[in-house]
Amino acid sequence: MKLEDARALDAGDPLGRFRDAFVLPEDIIYLDGNSLGALPRATIAAQRDAVERQWGTDLITSWNANDWIGAPERIGAKIAQLIGAKPQEVIVTDSVSVNLFKLIVAASRYQEDRAQILTEPGNFPTDLYTAGGAADMLPEQVVHTEQAGDIADALGPDTALLMLTHVHYKTGARHEVATLTEAAHKAGALTLWDLSHSVGAIPVDLNGCDADLAVGCGYKYLNGGPGAPAFLFVREDLQEQLVSPLSGWMGHAAPFEFRDDYAPAPGIRRFLCGTPPVLSLLALETGVDLFLETDIEALAAKSAALFELFAERIDERCYGQGLTLITPTEPEHRGSHISYTHPSGWPIMQALIERGVIGDFRAPDILRFGLTSLYTSYADIWRATEILGEILDSGLWREPRFAEAKTVT
Ligand SMILES: *Cc1c(COP(=O)(O)O)cnc(C)c1O
Repeated sequence: MKLEDARALDAGDPLGRFRDAFVLPEDIIYLDGNSLGALPRATIAAQRDAVERQWGTDLITSWNANDWIGAPERIGAKIAQLIGAKPQEVIVTDSVSVNLFKLIVAASRYQEDRAQILTEPGNFPTDLYTAGGAADMLPEQVVHTEQAGDIADALGPDTALLMLTHVHYKTGARHEVATLTEAAHKAGALTLWDLSHSVGAIPVDLNGCDADLAVGCGYKYLNGGPGAPAFLFVREDLQEQLVSPLSGWMGHAAPFEFRDDYAPAPGIRRFLCGTPPVLSLLALETGVDLFLETDIEALAAKSAALFELFAERIDERCYGQGLTLITPTEPEHRGSHISYTHPSGWPIMQALIERGVIGDFRAPDILRFGLTSLYTSYADIWRATEILGEILDSGLWREPRFAEAKTVT
């Protein structure tokens, strides 16, 4: 494909109008929205209002007057629309790691005659670490890992919880929520899905798949800002059966009665713990609001087209340069990023970033590019792959400055 053809695709793109809703520097092609989403313009005004008026002028009355207290449920109900859940099944709170901990412990205690938390090796590290930490606290619980293809067979009478990340953060490979949830239920186990690389990128239908529990990230595709709070989902009929081990006052049935004894709130609020980070919640809300103006099928269709263009361009422009595609090619088997391995992945990515193409590197050898349908254009993909081709042709990446290590990759 030629650059003009990519521009023609942009001209006919029904999602093209969203690009202007974001602050994106002219000289940068941003392909890392799967790690930190871009800044929506609306967030700037909304944050100014939150700070100047709501905090500055309305002060503590804002908890009622500006409904700060209702924000975790209000934003949760909006995210519910993106993941096929009921509004009262989702709440925004804490980080993904903390939410995993709360749900793993709650689900393991609920299934206390079953000892196993089943997951896969190579799952996102925080998921593995948190499951290990939770299991260490529980008398009988153990974490068992099984390769993706063997998971259904590994489910058994001892499995309390099947915990998986829907879309893999490195390869982009997608698990089938419906099939695996059904297999888990047949074995009597509950499921916990990490939607961090799915929400806002591809269709998710938690209720349609009869899923039990889920968590997801606010600062990736949802564009909630650095360290945005995460969300958690608990199937409605399970909510009264599960109790959060982090029994903080915001999850109490009556926090402002200040009683000595803990009584969990009815419904999803019981999974709150402490006072919510209001400014961050409001930044997440303006990010999520943009998704309510479109539909997830349109986003997924564009993501698939951007992927195809990227892969085709690498095949043509970077042929024989040592890049190996590790993301499944069928759209229904992947998320919304594209990953290649290259033995010199780190310096190549650093050279790309210096040339204005921001993707990221995942150890040991993965170049990862996020395809965010709201603000990535076809011309972006064309130019990014052209610049990658130039860097590989010229060997620019061999310059010593690109080999320097950085704290965050
Ligand atoms: C980004 C990500 C997280 C983030 O966890 P935090 O505790 O919010 O930092 C968790 N799981 C997966 C799969 C992720 O991709």
